[in-house]
Amino acid sequence: MSRKHVPLRTCVECQQVRPKRELVRVVRSPQGEIDVDEKGKAAGRGAYLCRSRGCWERALARERLDHALKTKLTAEDRERLLHYGRQLDDTPAVATSSAQPKGGSRKEHEASATLEG
Ligand SMILES: [Zn+2]
Repeated sequence: MSRKHVPLRTCVECQQVRPKRELVRVVRSPQGEIDVDEKGKAAGRGAYLCRSRGCWERALARERLDHALKTKLTAEDRERLLHYGRQLDDTPAVATSSAQPKGGSRKEHEASATLEG
């Protein structure tokens, strides 16, 4: 049984754990430059955020990235990251995976009436 290992990462804003490729990495390079690292391979300290506009806006507003990257983002950095975040959808893009249960076993949970007395 060989199972592919899926690296998981946590969004620094909403704390949701997701497969690494569903998140966007923000990196602080060894030179101290902040950048969006879409390939997730740049050297430096990284922090992950959902591909969700809301997470980017909140993370920047609450200085979550500053903490995660142990640095102080400049106004320019913020501007750039916010700009990146705003082109994303507001809701995290959930890839329609094949991880759906095979049809047929539809369990209907009927609200069982509480019998009292
Ligand atoms: Zn998030």
